[in-house]
Amino acid sequence: MTTSDPTPTTFAALGLSAPVLTALSEIGYETPSPIQAACIPHLMTGGDVLGEAQTGTGKTAAFALPALERIDVTRRTPQILVLTPTRELAIQVAEAFQTYARYLRDFHVVPLYGGQSMVVQLRQLTRGAQVIVGTPGRLMDHLKRGSLKLDDLKVMVLDEADEMLRMGFIEDVEWILSHTPSTRQTALFSATMPSVIRSVAQRHQRNPVEIKIKSATSTVSTTRQSYWMVRGHDKLDVLTRILEAEDELDAAIIFVRTKVATDELANKLEARGHAAAALNGDMTQGLRERVINQLKSGQIDIVVATDVAARGIDVPRVTHVINYDVPYDTEAYVHRIGRTGRAGRTGHAILFITAREQRMLRAIEHATRQKIALLTLPTRSEMADRRVSKFKQEVLDILEQEELHFFMEVVGQLRDENELKAHSIAAALAFMAQRDKPLQLDNAKGSDLPTTSEVRAPRENRDEAPNRRRDAADGKLRPYRIEVGRQHGVTPKEIVGAIANEGGLSGGQIGQIHLFDDFSLVELPSDLSNETLATLKRTRVCQQALQIQADDSTPMPAKRFGTKPGASKRPGAPGAPAKKPFKGGKPFIKRPKV
Ligand code: ADP
Ligand code: MG
Repeated sequence: MTTSDPTPTTFAALGLSAPVLTALSEIGYETPSPIQAACIPHLMTGGDVLGEAQTGTGKTAAFALPALERIDVTRRTPQILVLTPTRELAIQVAEAFQTYARYLRDFHVVPLYGGQSMVVQLRQLTRGAQVIVGTPGRLMDHLKRGSLKLDDLKVMVLDEADEMLRMGFIEDVEWILSHTPSTRQTALFSATMPSVIRSVAQRHQRNPVEIKIKSATSTVSTTRQSYWMVRGHDKLDVLTRILEAEDELDAAIIFVRTKVATDELANKLEARGHAAAALNGDMTQGLRERVINQLKSGQIDIVVATDVAARGIDVPRVTHVINYDVPYDTEAYVHRIGRTGRAGRTGHAILFITAREQRMLRAIEHATRQKIALLTLPTRSEMADRRVSKFKQEVLDILEQEELHFFMEVVGQLRDENELKAHSIAAALAFMAQRDKPLQLDNAKGSDLPTTSEVRAPRENRDEAPNRRRDAADGKLRPYRIEVGRQHGVTPKEIVGAIANEGGLSGGQIGQIHLFDDFSLVELPSDLSNETLATLKRTRVCQQALQIQADDSTPMPAKRFGTKPGASKRPGAPGAPAKKPFKGGKPFIKRPKV
């Protein structure tokens, strides 16, 4: 059975019970999604289902709602078992069950996944639950030690079966299936239907009804897609401009390819005043959950994630998915952008792509059956105008909302003691307030960001040009002297961090660094603005003011900084490591969030 255009129906018409219907209307589900309309009636009658549908189509409710109807709440034994590929999904599915079942008395659901303390899980299992949601490995552990008994199991759900296959869990899944009562009902969901999954279904299901939802998912159609042609080093600049320019931006997930890159980029964004955090597979489960919850609650707005760590995240306030590093394939892309446009809202997916990756762009257009347009970024002067009007608005808001008595008094004293005009004082305060985000974007050439037209004609293979030694940025680099050196205990990383953050430079604009005893030389664009220079003069590293000044007299030694072989090459230089100019860069110099 292929459901392309199901007749609109209601949840009530699907035969769901009153408490469940109340919960659904409370959380705002109006009509069943196509997969729900197709699956629910069949699952309610006890039949098996083999469902093929992309992320974001509403699979969780498709299996959870009918499962709830089959539970006997007077018994606290596991009756429903859901297998998910990741801990995040296990938690999310368990939360969804809890939400849908909020009006079922004595209902309990327990998520079981690796990385969480066994003691906690054993305690929860002893208390008893009708629904168990877990990852295959941990479920096997519990089954083997007898802490999980499935004698009363009625329904088994395999969620994201292809992902479980991809992660190497399929044998565990089959082992678990073979340790459940043969009378059970089985629902298997998968975004794709590789033959291995199909044969699992054949071995473990009984006459399943096949339900396929067309792959142009609802998520994709509610998501606006654009791309930006990047030229290597301007990624971070463009990203920060997007984050500032996109009006509807509430929260964003930024995808990068490596765990290291999640930390690096999150740090850089934090240093630029964004509330950002990394999300990757190296983090403990507790940390990952905390990050997702912070994103949900608005404590942070940006998560920089790898594909695996972000899979299945369902946070409705995510308005933007930014593919900072290009995905490996179109399927990964569809999964990524499925993190936005949740629950029928519109989302925006932005893809950073280099000239050499254009083929991926076409493939994605083909896969999502949508034309992807070139992103238009506001010009620098438009950006400046926005900052000014935002600034004015902030001032007006403060005047309206804050109690300013004390501050009036301070300003009054300042005015009287120095015979100043209030206007001048206000200007000085405005200057102080905008230091982190200057209201006047200086137009020094070379420091400007690429414009749309410039980007339309990317210089082919620019990054591969040989002898690209000293012009990491567009402009030429020259040595500058800073008054902090080895004897102060400084490291090149700290220097890069301070200059990048305080001076607003990108990693690519910082060249060689050489440490001497009581000073250092660092290569920076020769056309640094006076404003940047003034800021960097004051910037302190290891308690030393940098006192930066151009210095062409001290010879720059040939050696580059870096501790690892290979780390000395600029990114993009032939043979350089594919990623990132400097390692780590842990909390640079923190600035207050804006
Ligand atoms: P999938 O598992 O297919 O990726 P989910 O079950 O995670 O999709 O659902 C995606 C989002 O859509 C969730 O935010 C969910 O709450 C929401 N959703 C699901 N069904 C409905 C519905 N019938 N009406 C409105 N929103 C829904
Ligand atoms: Mg799902």
